[in-house]
Amino acid sequence: MKFAIRDDDTCYFTDPADLERVYHDVWDRVPVCLATVPFAIGYERVGIPRQHWHDGEAFALERNGALMGLLKSLLAKKRATIALHGYTHQDYADGFEFQSAPDPERRVADGLRYLRETLGTLPASTISIFVPPHNAMSKRGLAAVGAAGLNILGSFLSFRPSMRPWDYTTPANWLRIRQFRRSSGRTKSDRLIYPFVLRYADHAEFGCHSLIPGTTVDELTKAFDEARSAGGDFCLATHYWEVDAAMKSVLLKFLDYVSRDRDVRFVAAEELFA
Ligand SMILES: [Zn+2]
Repeated sequence: MKFAIRDDDTCYFTDPADLERVYHDVWDRVPVCLATVPFAIGYERVGIPRQHWHDGEAFALERNGALMGLLKSLLAKKRATIALHGYTHQDYADGFEFQSAPDPERRVADGLRYLRETLGTLPASTISIFVPPHNAMSKRGLAAVGAAGLNILGSFLSFRPSMRPWDYTTPANWLRIRQFRRSSGRTKSDRLIYPFVLRYADHAEFGCHSLIPGTTVDELTKAFDEARSAGGDFCLATHYWEVDAAMKSVLLKFLDYVSRDRDVRFVAAEELFA
């Protein structure tokens, strides 16, 4: 069984000390997939200075020299990998970036090129994953990411064929989900993180379990046990900027629980799709 960790929102606004604080005793056990924003535009959240919540200015990642230094060293030591997390991560009046931006195709292409160039040519910095900002994507956003050949690590992506671009694999994937729902006693509306990679014509998708304020060790271990008994894999997703002492303790206790299982292999998120 493969186990991976994804952390969202590394960008110009990230203080490298925050990543160190959360992961210094984690990334030697499990490499962390840092879902990174190339040209962050501020919005209302902890960790982004208030004066940039509404100024609309795009900040290139490399303007944060201290962060660039940390990222390059993490990549070299295989403590982290980099995924593309939107282009600006900006919110629109009628939706999130990959629901409402007029040019998702350009954003994927330019964002990918920028991260690949600025983070150097280390093999470890090869980028193959896209994480949608706010876990939200329109049909067109999803098609743009798939066409670029990137796999998607999501959390709440819809499986409904009507909500996504259609290809020859869609009906079989939909049936797989329906069967898993039934066999696990879930109804249509019950929450489901499907523990297997879903392969579509031009990309693959995998769902992550969220660690957010209030998530308990018990909830995570139950979800992990379910994925394990189904023969699946597991990816935990969180945001470094909301990890306080209580969440950190949940993270460590959960990792200890997972580590006790001899069948578990800690991997970089990219390996989930191998
Ligand atoms: Zn995000």
